[in-house]
Amino acid sequence: MPSKSSIADRALREIDQARDEMVGLAADLLRIPTVNPPGDAYRECAELLADRLRGYAYDTELLRPESDADARHPRWNVLAARRGAGAHPCVHLNGHLDVVPAGDGWTLDPFAGVVRDGLLYGRGSADMKAGLAAAVIAAEALRRAGASLAGTIEVSGTVDEESGGFAGVGWLAETGRISSARTDHVIIPEPLGVDRICVGHRGVYWSRVRSRGKIAHGSMPFLGSSAVDPLGRFLERLRTELRPALSRRRTDMPVVPAEARWASINVNAVAAGQALLTPQTPCVADAGEVILDRRFLIEEGFEAARREIVELAAAVAAENGGWKLEVEDMMVVHPTRTPAGDPLVLALEDAILEVVGHDAEIVASPGTYDHKHVTRIGGVVSCVAYGPGVLEQAHQPDEWCRIDDMIGSAKVMALAMLRLAVAG
Ligand SMILES: [Zn+2]
Repeated sequence: MPSKSSIADRALREIDQARDEMVGLAADLLRIPTVNPPGDAYRECAELLADRLRGYAYDTELLRPESDADARHPRWNVLAARRGAGAHPCVHLNGHLDVVPAGDGWTLDPFAGVVRDGLLYGRGSADMKAGLAAAVIAAEALRRAGASLAGTIEVSGTVDEESGGFAGVGWLAETGRISSARTDHVIIPEPLGVDRICVGHRGVYWSRVRSRGKIAHGSMPFLGSSAVDPLGRFLERLRTELRPALSRRRTDMPVVPAEARWASINVNAVAAGQALLTPQTPCVADAGEVILDRRFLIEEGFEAARREIVELAAAVAAENGGWKLEVEDMMVVHPTRTPAGDPLVLALEDAILEVVGHDAEIVASPGTYDHKHVTRIGGVVSCVAYGPGVLEQAHQPDEWCRIDDMIGSAKVMALAMLRLAVAG
């Protein structure tokens, strides 16, 4: 049996030789505009990926959640497996197939797969079809190098990451397809950079604060009670009390950019009284609401973050006997962090040092991604985001991914998989 180091050398050469094949796969994926919302063309994209993976000796399945009722935009996921001597260790490579809408400001066709000056352009190049292609080629290079798998390599292409991932990775985890019984390590090649390993994210709590007043004629407002007043006061105290308190709380997680290491709150929307663009009638506003996006730290926890908002609403209501404010939960994503000393992190760290030539940076993401489902539902703690692309490119016009970084990260993933899943 060839030694691991000679397989490694061969696999790295295979990746260099597969440069056009890898860029071609990424470009083919991004020519299918899987824009979400609404979730266009998932089936076409899933079929393309499944087709390529069958050519790379995987067993593939196209899977749609039974609960998916969207006939116009069906949620099709791909799950592929290449089995070696045993089921374990199982390394799972997951990429989301969806992209956000192109938006304005492009100087080239966002869905043409343009390659120029060493960059692959297009919506979804960085986030994250280039990463998915790099991961697929990394695994394929090991096969071409003659590596004999001790366990299994799985690849999934999943839907809806940009809208929460519930019909994609969330559903694969709920149905046991990504689970601690089956899956040992998960790499999600989100665009964190060729030398950075992302070990998790902060928590998210979305809430709606509703205000109820009493309608009356606008010429006699003293007969009613405006729902705007308590909301205005709530927002004022949020700005002058809650926000300064949050800005003093810092996480020990290495969130990038560093400005995102503090707890934060954003007012997503404010609405009260009559809709702005309709003909107006003279009425005291009898209802209003604000929608809040609170990013909480693993050190804070969800209950404390929620309680703070509930208590602020109660304190504002208590200022005036006629004021009514209530808080309703909309969404919670708990924070997650890969344990220190995790074997996947160590394997990637060594591979980055070897391929890139300097130490890896361990980071955490300012926003959430499918890691939450892998860990919180699937129970798989050995999960990271690692892949090519510049985080700030995600969701921008003229999005691009550097092809050299695709090569570099494919090499890193190949070496890490060689250590984790190959016999010898
Ligand atoms: Zn992404």
